[in-house]
Amino acid sequence: MSEKKKGLLLLSGGLDSAVALHLMKEQDIELEAVHFTSHFCTCGGKGGGCGPASKIAESAGIKLHIVSKGEDYLDVIKKPKHGRGSNMNACIDCRIYSFRKAKELMEKIGASFIVTGEVLDQRPMSQHRKAMLTIEKEAELDGLILRPLSALVLEETFPEKAGWVDRKKFKNISGRGRKEQLSFAKEKGVKDFSCPAGGCLLTDPQFSRRFKDLMEDKPEFGSKDVALLKYGRHFRLGEKAKLAVGRNQSENEILEQMKGPADLTFVLADFNGPLALLTGENIKKYTEFSAAITARYGDVPDRESRVKVEMTGPAGTGKILLAVRPAKDAELAGFLI
Ligand code: SF4
Repeated sequence: MSEKKKGLLLLSGGLDSAVALHLMKEQDIELEAVHFTSHFCTCGGKGGGCGPASKIAESAGIKLHIVSKGEDYLDVIKKPKHGRGSNMNACIDCRIYSFRKAKELMEKIGASFIVTGEVLDQRPMSQHRKAMLTIEKEAELDGLILRPLSALVLEETFPEKAGWVDRKKFKNISGRGRKEQLSFAKEKGVKDFSCPAGGCLLTDPQFSRRFKDLMEDKPEFGSKDVALLKYGRHFRLGEKAKLAVGRNQSENEILEQMKGPADLTFVLADFNGPLALLTGENIKKYTEFSAAITARYGDVPDRESRVKVEMTGPAGTGKILLAVRPAKDAELAGFLI
């Protein structure tokens, strides 16, 4: 009698990986799952992981490992060997990174293969046949990545050849449509897949512009610099100076918390408005303009007169009041990232 094997499922929390989980539950194998969070995740995966992935794993009764992609992931995204997609997404290198991490976990938990919800030809960069083979090879997982949704239109994997799983129970889905997955999910009562598979800021054009600007401004950037890109309106004031202006109370608070020892913040002294955070080098020459931008986004009734803006420097240096006229939109053109 053959020994029961264990698989490790990459569970994003999206529809496809949820369907993959249910297809694998019909097999005579043990299953654990891993969910990756990253600096670019849009589904709030901070420490506790993506809610939908946790719910899906819990309702299926399988163990979920949450792995956060570290600073080494940023190195991969800074200089992707296989290039980028239509925005700053470096999907092939990103997948190689994830599969390498998954392989480490697979070996640690005594699993024998990896399972994913990938569908052949669903995504233009990383899910066509050639890219899939490249990813498998560079992650040193040749033949060990099982994709149950597309298994019947892909080459047989080692787990299928060895009889660990029954290939006949898998599907032959390919392409971008989700009809078949949705009807399977409905039939089997698969729920909680609200976290979309495409929840990655690197595919977002506006975030990509900011990310590109950061790479040019500060090639040695780290997690904190990336985190700042997610909040507020951003203005490139000089080669090494950037202003982030909060768009609501929550962003104001976050920007204030992100203030570093050499940074400056701006708030209106007499009206409600944003908190703006000025970062970079030699930033003092941008204080007047930063104050005017802060006033532009405040509840200032008279936009032709000067208003007071409070500038705060490093702790213990006190506040300085600047009197500025709110900036006009035409004056901001070319600065907004
Ligand atoms: S969309 Fe983002 S998370 Fe997904 S593979 Fe591409 S770079 Fe990685």
